[in-house]
Amino acid sequence: MGAEVGRFVQSIHESHGVTFHLGETVTSIAGRTVTLSGGGTVDADFVVIGVGVRPATAIAERSGLAVDRGITVNEFLETSTPGIFAAGDVARWPDPHTGERIRVEHWVVAERQGQVAARNMLGRRERFDAVPFFWSQHYDVTIRYVGHAERWEAVTVSGSLDAHDAAVRFMRGGKTLAVATVSRDRENLQAELELEQATASQ
Ligand SMILES: Cc1cc2nc3c(=O)[nH]c(=O)nc-3n(C[C@H](O)[C@H](O)[C@H](O)COP(=O)(O)OP(=O)(O)OC[C@H]3O[C@@H](n4cnc5c(N)ncnc54)[C@H](O)[C@@H]3O)c2cc1C
Repeated sequence: MGAEVGRFVQSIHESHGVTFHLGETVTSIAGRTVTLSGGGTVDADFVVIGVGVRPATAIAERSGLAVDRGITVNEFLETSTPGIFAAGDVARWPDPHTGERIRVEHWVVAERQGQVAARNMLGRRERFDAVPFFWSQHYDVTIRYVGHAERWEAVTVSGSLDAHDAAVRFMRGGKTLAVATVSRDRENLQAELELEQATASQ
């Protein structure tokens, strides 16, 4: 979510006593001692490892479907083989806002894509253009994010993140691709509506 929101999230956690070891990785865990790549050690009684996930595309590759860090689908969620559809975490579909294919790991996207893919299997030819969203809770602060911006040219912050009252817009090519808000739920819903309308007018 960029440097501004990143620093904000870091500061929330630091204000609750969390220490960040940025730029370091864990080289070993022995008993209660975690050794960092910088040579330091951390005493730990509980370790959470965030390693990410990868889409399981082997079966699609073996079947000859186009695969690019996920199963490539068109706006109807149809794969490179007509009549075969993909939906959910595994599908990389064309984002109507940028024209670039994106893959989103979120259960609401998976659910909505499943519904659209099912209708398209029945011949509806319905475009998948739902606007992705998520929220992320940090102590008493909730960040609500709507849209999808992997790259942007400009970030504008209205209000103040430090005051827990802000809207952060991620812009590219003069368009808003995504908006993150703190304590501005109404503005977030308006941003979602604007993104939906921008898709509908294309
Ligand atoms: C730790 C974690 C936390 C998450 N937290 C959130 C959250 O808070 N909010 C949120 O919105 N989303 C969250 N997600 C993401 C959410 O779980 C996924 O977006 C959602 O489950 C995607 O649904 P799906 O049906 O596309 O894929 P999946 O739920 O992954 O289902 C795919 C299924 O296909 C099966 N499969 C794979 N290959 C084959 C094969 N060759 N043959 C047969 N079966 C096969 C798999 O075993 C699996 O059961 C989280 C995910 C993880 C891992």
